[in-house]
Amino acid sequence: MGPGPVNADPRVLRAMSAQLVGQYDPAMTAYMNETMELYRGVFRTCNEATLLVDGTSRAGIEAALVSLLAPGDRVLVPIFGRFGHLLAEIARRAGAEVHTREIEWGGVFTAAAIERAIVEVRPALLAVVHGDTSTTVAQPLDELGAICERHGVLFYTDVTASLGGNPFEMDAWGLDAATAGLQKCLGGPSGSAPLSLSPRAVERVQARSSVEAGIRSAGDVVREHPIRSNYFDLGMILDYWGEKRLNHHTEATSMLYGARECARLLLEEGMDTAIDRHRLHGAAMLAGVEGLGLEVFGDRAHRMHNVVGVSIPDGVNGDRVRGALLEDFAIEIGTSFGPLHGRIWRIGTMGYNARRDTVLTTLAALEQVLRAEGHRLTAGGGVAAARDVYASEAA
Ligand SMILES: *Cc1c(COP(=O)(O)O)cnc(C)c1O
Repeated sequence: MGPGPVNADPRVLRAMSAQLVGQYDPAMTAYMNETMELYRGVFRTCNEATLLVDGTSRAGIEAALVSLLAPGDRVLVPIFGRFGHLLAEIARRAGAEVHTREIEWGGVFTAAAIERAIVEVRPALLAVVHGDTSTTVAQPLDELGAICERHGVLFYTDVTASLGGNPFEMDAWGLDAATAGLQKCLGGPSGSAPLSLSPRAVERVQARSSVEAGIRSAGDVVREHPIRSNYFDLGMILDYWGEKRLNHHTEATSMLYGARECARLLLEEGMDTAIDRHRLHGAAMLAGVEGLGLEVFGDRAHRMHNVVGVSIPDGVNGDRVRGALLEDFAIEIGTSFGPLHGRIWRIGTMGYNARRDTVLTTLAALEQVLRAEGHRLTAGGGVAAARDVYASEAA
């Protein structure tokens, strides 16, 4: 019940134990095509260029940034938590001229503030995190696409922590690039990064992509300044996933089985239903921690559905509470990073773990552990408040 990774759906684990096939076996290429189509549904996009990058979510971020940003390109990164810093760090290593704006952790930017920064910086790319699990809030993105369009800026977001559990509309919100991972609301293990690029972003990538020696054919362009990473050259990765089927890396077969199953699960449930399930269990967890008399961290109006930040009460040893929950109840919760380390706990309700039984059991266990720590709280208040949420939604 931490901020991710969380328990994987058993169906995903079963899918991953299937036998391997060769990378050009028609079954495998059919799986690749099918996975592209499934993730179009998950990202809510028509983008042809929708595929998996092999590696954890950060591999998707690196692939997007190193492929879209040429050295010297200006990029604007609004930072409201740990993962904004990560985008800036990766863009800097890609050689981009990085401009950041920062606000205190727990809040989000207004669209007007981002537009002002765009006017000042004139970036080639806006790179912003959607849900930053480090602070448990989600940056509204729905107005930013039109702003980027107006100023001729490409628009990238990291939806690793939010996708599948919070509303996200790649096309309707005007995104050019989005990357994710499996280990949050998608109910899978870490190790595969779904990614989608708009036609505009594909154009930018293809203008920089260069086919490596050894698989080049006559007529392939060789660029003096190719994308700096071979592994994360999205041009070559697109040629592998596209009709050319040009060999690049060997697709991580078992991870593809897992990623495909994650998307099948979500689409079978229905994206709206899955998002609403996360909203419900997140609301029950929030009511439950408040019912225990604990204080919730972060901007209430912009909370992510799938993780709640809880201020660690004065006099309570946060790490000892986490240790006892894990030791006695086999329940894991997290703390956070940087300025929030040791100040908040983060309790997740995501993917396979966004369920009523997990919410109620976690609240009951937390009450007992806090009581043993000598913290005074309302007996049974957590479970009761969460059950009230379930009862009122059922009515
Ligand atoms: C959890 C998380 C990640 C995780 O990256 P990994 O490389 O899979 O560890 C990335 N971005 C955000 C916003 C996250 O919350």
